[in-house]
Amino acid sequence: MSNSATPSKKAAFGSVFSDKMIVAEYKDGQWSPGKITDVAPLQLHPAAHVLHYASTCFEGMKAFKMANGEVKIFRLDRHIARMAQSASLLHLPIPSPQELESMIREVVETNKADIPEPPGALYLRPTLIGTEANIGAAGAPSGEALFYVLVSPVGDYFSGSTKGLTIAIEDQEMRSTPGFGKAKTGGNYASALRHVMRAKKENQADQVLFCPGGDVQETGAANFFLIDDNRIMTKPLDASFLHGVTRDSIINLARSMGYEIIEKDFTVDELLEWIQHGEAALSGTAAMLSGVGQFILHGETHPVGNGEVGPNTQKLREALLAIQSGKAEDQFAWLK
Ligand code: PMP
Repeated sequence: MSNSATPSKKAAFGSVFSDKMIVAEYKDGQWSPGKITDVAPLQLHPAAHVLHYASTCFEGMKAFKMANGEVKIFRLDRHIARMAQSASLLHLPIPSPQELESMIREVVETNKADIPEPPGALYLRPTLIGTEANIGAAGAPSGEALFYVLVSPVGDYFSGSTKGLTIAIEDQEMRSTPGFGKAKTGGNYASALRHVMRAKKENQADQVLFCPGGDVQETGAANFFLIDDNRIMTKPLDASFLHGVTRDSIINLARSMGYEIIEKDFTVDELLEWIQHGEAALSGTAAMLSGVGQFILHGETHPVGNGEVGPNTQKLREALLAIQSGKAEDQFAWLK
C-alpha cells in the first residue's frame, strides 16, 4: 500500500490507497479492456474536458472480508446503476454494467490482501472523467473518457465513539441545483463546500443539513433519517438529492425489523419537534448510520436526547453491519 498503513491499522479515510488500480479508456467510440496499473499520476491534457467543464462522476462502495476469507461487495449492482445514471445526466460514455462489474471485481481481487477485518472494509472509488482536449467543447460532451477504480482500505469511521454528530441546519441554500442532486458528480460537492466550510467555522459543526426553504433534504455526504422506537422517516426520492444505497438498505432493514417506514417531505420545524422525543441519523457508505447529537440553527443549539447516539440508531447500524460483514443472514442478497 501507499503510505505506511497496514490492513490491521485504522486507515485514514480517503488518503491511503492500495498500490494497484484498474483503468479503461474510451476513444473512437470504443472502450478498451480494463488494465491493472500502478496507482500513479494520470496524463491529462491541460484542455481536458473534465478540468474545465467538470465532466466527472464517481461511486463509493465497500468490499468486506467474510469470516471464511471470501470477499463480498455490498450492493454492487445498485452502485453500478447509479453510476450509469450519473454518467447519462452528464453525457459521459460509460462501460456496460457487465464490464464495470468485472473491472471492479478484478481490482478488488488484485488488492485483496489490503482488506481489513470488519467493521473495516475496502472502499472502492470508480471514477469516470471526460478527457477530450477541447476547450471549445463547453456546449458539447467529451468524445474521450477515462474510467478507473481506486481502492482504499478504511477502518471504523466511529472508532467506538458514542457521541452524536453536530449538524448545522442550512435553511436557505440547496446543496446542488434542483434536478441534479441525484447525480454523483464532483460539481455538486464543489457547490456545497462553501456552506460546509461556513458551518464548520461558525458552528464547529461536523456537517451541514441542506434544507432549502425548510425542506429537509440531505447533508454534504449522507442522507438523513428521523428515527424513534417504532418509525423511521426520510424524504421520498426526487431529483434534488442523492439516492443513497445505504438509505435504501436502512429502509428495507428497518421494515424487516418491524419499523414503520414514512417516506415523506418534512420541514425543519417537524425535525425540531421530532427530536424532542426521537433520534436523528445520517446514512451513507462511509458513515453507515451515524447518530446526530445536536443541531445548530441560526446559532441556536437543539440537542437530540442526551447528545449520544440513540438506541434505535445503534440497533439499525449494528444490524446493517452484521449483514455487511457476513455475521447475519444476507436476507436481501446484498452481498455479491
Ligand atoms: N448524499 C450524498 C451527497 C453523498 O455524498 C452520499 C455518499 N455517497 C450519500 C448521500 C449516501 O449515499 P450512499 O448511501 O450510497 O453512500
